[in-house]
Amino acid sequence: MEKISNIKTTEYIGKQVKICGWVQTKRSHGKIIFIDLRDKSSLVQIVFTPSSNIYKLAQKLRPEWVLKIQGVVNKRPKGMENPKLETGKIEIQARNLEVLFQAKTLPFSIDTNGYEISEEKRLKYRYLDLRRPRLKKNLEIRQKVIQFMRNFLIERDFIEIETPLLTKSTPEGSRDFIVPSRLYPGKFYALPQSPQQYKQMLIVAGFEKYFQIARCLRDEDMRGNRQAEHTQLDIEMAFVSREEILELIEKLYIGLVKKIFPEKKITKIPFIRMTHKEAMKKYKSDKPDLRKNKKDPDELAFAFITDFPMFKWHENPSAGASTELSRMSSGQGKWGAEHHPFTMPQTEDIKKIKKEPKNILALQDDFVLNGQEIGGGGIRNTNLDVLTAVFEVCGHKKAEIKKNFKNYFEAFSYGVPPHGGIAPGIDRFLAIVLNEPNIREVIAFPKTGDNRDLMMDVPSEVTNEQLKELHIKIVKKK
Ligand code: ASP
Repeated sequence: MEKISNIKTTEYIGKQVKICGWVQTKRSHGKIIFIDLRDKSSLVQIVFTPSSNIYKLAQKLRPEWVLKIQGVVNKRPKGMENPKLETGKIEIQARNLEVLFQAKTLPFSIDTNGYEISEEKRLKYRYLDLRRPRLKKNLEIRQKVIQFMRNFLIERDFIEIETPLLTKSTPEGSRDFIVPSRLYPGKFYALPQSPQQYKQMLIVAGFEKYFQIARCLRDEDMRGNRQAEHTQLDIEMAFVSREEILELIEKLYIGLVKKIFPEKKITKIPFIRMTHKEAMKKYKSDKPDLRKNKKDPDELAFAFITDFPMFKWHENPSAGASTELSRMSSGQGKWGAEHHPFTMPQTEDIKKIKKEPKNILALQDDFVLNGQEIGGGGIRNTNLDVLTAVFEVCGHKKAEIKKNFKNYFEAFSYGVPPHGGIAPGIDRFLAIVLNEPNIREVIAFPKTGDNRDLMMDVPSEVTNEQLKELHIKIVKKK
């Protein structure tokens, strides 16, 4: 007899089956005991009658106990069907019952949507929180979205390539997480803020169409809808125009919405386009919410905000988030890259770039949905003199640039094609389409708003031996 999932039982009427799962609910009608057994596919009703020799054990069953059941699939008597349940037309008459685990009572209920429970509690017991159908569904949809992206790009000759997590500090505008090296005392790796430099190296290597479902790690002060780790669909292409990049993304998202979210209505196809200047003038925002009806939960206003400024003035860079900025600043205001310094400015006139950074636009576009930025990208700077000028505007000395970005400059000198890319964020997109208030609802194991993982209890201390091996001493704040 094969072991099948609950949902399959509907195909097995009159047959013997074996199924496994968790007790969702238990109730009695007269002497008959019913349980709803939950597995990954659905709930199914199990019936225990007093005449069976497992009846005594069935009486002891409690919610969330883990069971293995053998029984016969029967049609439910007329009038007893449950139209709300996919398996509502059948039930299983249990013949054999094995209790695989006697679970304790859960710290909270899992048959509600969970919003009413404190987040501390939900995240501490995330493995229980995830038993909730809403979160199960969110993660299933997340997987479908990622699968769609993969298929879409692979069909178009893209290659998926993983890049390292242990890498070097890069100037993407946030603070890096750093990892001490045991073998090289006093030296550190950094976790990638994004695979930006690696993907450009792959282009130098001749992979003309790259993508990756990439994890990006940024040690930011927690603000609103952010996480220390987020996932993005990282894309890079050689010999590409910005128009081609935007068209690819447009096609991908139109196809994705049609297939996975057919109930949603896209405000405008082709997607709305607007320059950064227009957006700031008209909406005072670089991520305007362009929905026609903001109360409609099924409207998706995708937009490309184009031609971002190349540079941004930071009043107080040392207090800001960026290592790149704080490394170089003397505490006064200074210029930094609006996105990242690898973007191509819209002029290659070096004098102009250095003289009037304020007026320099970049070949840089943002992807916006319902008032939130869900991605950014553009054409990369392959003119090494212009790239040097950009770093200089950002406050780097020439010698420092040569040292910090040696590999990048060297790689390009061996022949780099024009290239560009984009990286739409997956968490934010999902939170918007699923009408979730926070990206934590679409991530399996998110951190709290203040960057802790309550389930694993991190950040946490390490042993003195570990610190010793790393040549690290903790200095307690007085
Ligand atoms: N690396 C950029 C980011 O993570 C995206 C890109 O320019 O492709 O924001």
